[in-house]
Amino acid sequence: MKTIKIILAGPRGRMGKEAVELIHRTEHFELVACIDRMNDGKKIAEIEGFPAIDALVYSDPRKCFQSVAADVLIDLTTPEIGKIHTKLALEYGVRPVVGTTGFNEVELAELTELAEEKKTGVIIAPNFAVGAILMMKFAQMAAKHLEDVEIIELHHDRKLDAPSGTALKTAELISSTRKAKQQGNPDEVEQLEGARGAQTKDGIRIHSVRLPGLVAHQEVMFGGEGQSLTIKHDSYNRASFMSGVKLAVETVMTLDVLVYGLENIIE
Ligand code: NAP
Repeated sequence: MKTIKIILAGPRGRMGKEAVELIHRTEHFELVACIDRMNDGKKIAEIEGFPAIDALVYSDPRKCFQSVAADVLIDLTTPEIGKIHTKLALEYGVRPVVGTTGFNEVELAELTELAEEKKTGVIIAPNFAVGAILMMKFAQMAAKHLEDVEIIELHHDRKLDAPSGTALKTAELISSTRKAKQQGNPDEVEQLEGARGAQTKDGIRIHSVRLPGLVAHQEVMFGGEGQSLTIKHDSYNRASFMSGVKLAVETVMTLDVLVYGLENIIE
């Protein structure tokens, strides 16, 4: 298999560290550079806790793309920075695999258009855990039969965006199969603002919990006459996301458009 040359943005982050290990242990992956606002000019090997990789760290992303020939960018940073990196990568013909969450619909549409214009593959996946993709698919199936549903997503307290990209994606998938329904009591009054969670335009409630100790968890609860169904997924550590990152890096090499969501490349 041809070696895939990778630039990684966010190597010191919790996801980034796992990604460095993934690249290091994958025979046909090569880390050629990192984008990080610290350690400019150092080799990855010179940074404490990192494996013996000679790839250079660049604090200036444009300089990185100008200086290094790469096939794929893996971005695991923040939405504002991730968007800048993705656009720059496309400008330099590098295919982005974006795990960073928090892109809104307008940003996704803009990146979709740019990928099409550049005829370059992009994968943006708000959740790289295969189990989470199955949870979303099962929820989509269940919504055909049980239209009363609420989503509860639970994450660590350092997460920046709420609700999670996975919760929004789940709601989108549920909406594609669920009969439109106004849920709950039409005369309901919130005594405390937000008590009933956020609401999508289709009226699906999403509740976001943020607590230390959590990683990434989601429950999709369906209710019907005398019954309930709960579909639940837990990521206990960030290693749970790496098989999805690997698949996305391999798949993006074959694409010339933007694909949003791992579920669209798993089948
Ligand atoms: P994290 O530990 O906070 O790491 C974020 C990384 O981004 C850090 O290395 C940080 O560097 C870097 N960063 C922030 N601002 C930057 C800037 N201006 N320029 C360059 N680098 C910058 O977060 P994480 O848990 O690894 O998560 C990273 C992203 O992945 C988040 O968007 C998160 O929601 C997402 N995520 C996705 C999945 C998935 O399956 N798709 C799973 C988990 C997390 P500093 O230390 O300098 O700030």
